[in-house]
Amino acid sequence: MRDHTNAATQSGRDHTTSISWYEKFPELRPNVQYFDCSRLSASLTREACHQNWTAAYARRKDDTPLRLQKCQGCPIGRALHDGANDPSSWADVRLSNECLRCGRRDLRVIPSTGTCVSCWNRRRETERGHNARGGKLVHPIILSPRRVGLLVDGKPTWRLIDAHHEGEALSRAIHQIDGAKFHGQQPGQSVWNKRVGRFQYRCDKHPGEFGTLCEQVDSNGATEYVCPVCRPRAAKDLPEARVCSPTSIQSREFVKEVMRTYCVEPIESWTATEHVCDRCEHYPLQVRTIGKQLHCRCPLCDQAE
Ligand SMILES: [Zn+2]
Ligand SMILES: [Zn+2]
Ligand SMILES: [Zn+2]
Repeated sequence: MRDHTNAATQSGRDHTTSISWYEKFPELRPNVQYFDCSRLSASLTREACHQNWTAAYARRKDDTPLRLQKCQGCPIGRALHDGANDPSSWADVRLSNECLRCGRRDLRVIPSTGTCVSCWNRRRETERGHNARGGKLVHPIILSPRRVGLLVDGKPTWRLIDAHHEGEALSRAIHQIDGAKFHGQQPGQSVWNKRVGRFQYRCDKHPGEFGTLCEQVDSNGATEYVCPVCRPRAAKDLPEARVCSPTSIQSREFVKEVMRTYCVEPIESWTATEHVCDRCEHYPLQVRTIGKQLHCRCPLCDQAE
């Protein structure tokens, strides 16, 4: 961890952040250092900056002042307040009126499902098997367990979350776990088994067929992978692990490229993708189009508008 105390007690330039510290009120407050914050157009002490930064990353309520959005993703804030990089302080920057499934913000959200009334209705119709007029459903909402890679205490873990698509699974993970941090790892090497005609995960120590990993899923969807050679008793009666793609951790450039190729419709408001920001690994990147331009941002790393 870097030591920032130096910068706060001495005047001069801080090279990690390229801000300059100075005594603003040498008579009234000697030795109290300020710097000029361009985002808030104010001179701030480290403490004042820290307060703003912390408030900007607290769970957003409807009455959170808009000016605090300016602090989100601020590189100076991040450099000055190391503690802010602690995932538990990176709470939800999502608006409470945002549907976890379709991302719309203009409809009422049903708290028990986290989805808007429109998505809720379509799911009800899917469960009933027909729409309100008894007709066939054009876009049924099928929920299936989707795996997300989550870091817990710095270690990779996996969790199954019932969702309509990958992006919804990520959003649900963020909503369920404060400061959720994702990873893009697989539980073992995936190997094509010609004999059975499918991919299998293999234990690092036992790469042969006997080391095919089994999976144990608890009631929360937390998934543990067990090698039958390393832990024969634990693996007894467990099913073979299902191979699926890892959580997608991507750069803005990659996501833009994918969207340009596959997305022809304009996207009017910021819409979450199924790709997690490779800078913070905390939030799915969002996209929107303005005219012919496609824009991509992380709601956590990039300044909110
Ligand atoms: Zn919705
Ligand atoms: Zn093993
Ligand atoms: Zn980010």
